[in-house]
Amino acid sequence: MLPTVACIHRGLFRSCAGLSVRMISRGIGQKGILANRVAVVTGSTDGIGFAIARRLARDGAHVVVSSRKQQNVDRAVAALQGEGLSVVGTVCHVGKAEDRERLVDTVVEHCGGLDFLVCSAGVNPLVGSTLGASEQVWDKILEVNVKAPALMLSQLLPHMEKRGRGAVILVSSVSAYVPHVELGPYNISKTALLGLTRTLSLELAPKGIRVNCLVPGIIKTDFSKVSTPTRAESEIIDMCSVLLLSRIGQPEDCAGLVSFLCSPDASYITGENIAVAGFSSRL
Ligand code: NAP
Repeated sequence: MLPTVACIHRGLFRSCAGLSVRMISRGIGQKGILANRVAVVTGSTDGIGFAIARRLARDGAHVVVSSRKQQNVDRAVAALQGEGLSVVGTVCHVGKAEDRERLVDTVVEHCGGLDFLVCSAGVNPLVGSTLGASEQVWDKILEVNVKAPALMLSQLLPHMEKRGRGAVILVSSVSAYVPHVELGPYNISKTALLGLTRTLSLELAPKGIRVNCLVPGIIKTDFSKVSTPTRAESEIIDMCSVLLLSRIGQPEDCAGLVSFLCSPDASYITGENIAVAGFSSRL
């Protein structure tokens, strides 16, 4: 049985009585550069996605937080609400059509529309070579990392179009530029996202929707621990001899860029892939 619906609503979010998903929302007087805007961040109960959700909410947006596990959604929503931020949460495994549908319903019912979509959810079920990957591994990586952002956007697009503007941020990886030998198909999925960014930016420009891509380097999260399971931090820095800033990034290092890309200050920027990596692949 699903847990009891809990709902506090002030500000933009509407009543959530009768919902079949557990939701908690809380609004505050909207201030900041993203005031009165609505953002969906996938994979946002931990790591980079969580830092982005927090930053967008601190900058005034109402944020819909989501990930696969109800307890993670509850924990993230409680933490952000504890800071007085305007958030609502729902379970959404981005690879599952019915979960994406529910996320769209949540946005429509509680927020009435959408301004920003940030696709942070990503997986890497394999530490190994490209040719060693099974068909199942290929399917999972491409489904979650590449297909899901496109499908999610196609479902949310009508609700962005109504606002006559919008911003989409995909999350790639520097492994798209500098492939990591142990992350075969993952590298390729992240390279595909650079292409998806450019193609979508062309297709959506006439609708006033900008599409850009955050390209993180090594960021200290659970994901980077799993992807490089045997390496101590100093070894990772040695491995990245190109790392000019000599430190591993923090999730918050990625969040400011995403807020900027959503803001009016970025209103003439689209189709860009921007690295937050302590080095530039162009140097
Ligand atoms: P993380 O700390 O492991 O957090 C992943 C988040 O995504 C969690 O909230 C997780 O919650 C959720 N999630 C995982 N699979 C999901 C799915 N199928 N559908 C929806 N939510 C899902 O990971 P991270 O390091 O922040 O990575 C975020 C993104 O940055 C990924 O796309 C990754 O490829 C990219 N990236 C990371 C690094 C790095 O060094 N950390 C570098 C380059 C790129 P649940 O378990 O509840 O689902």
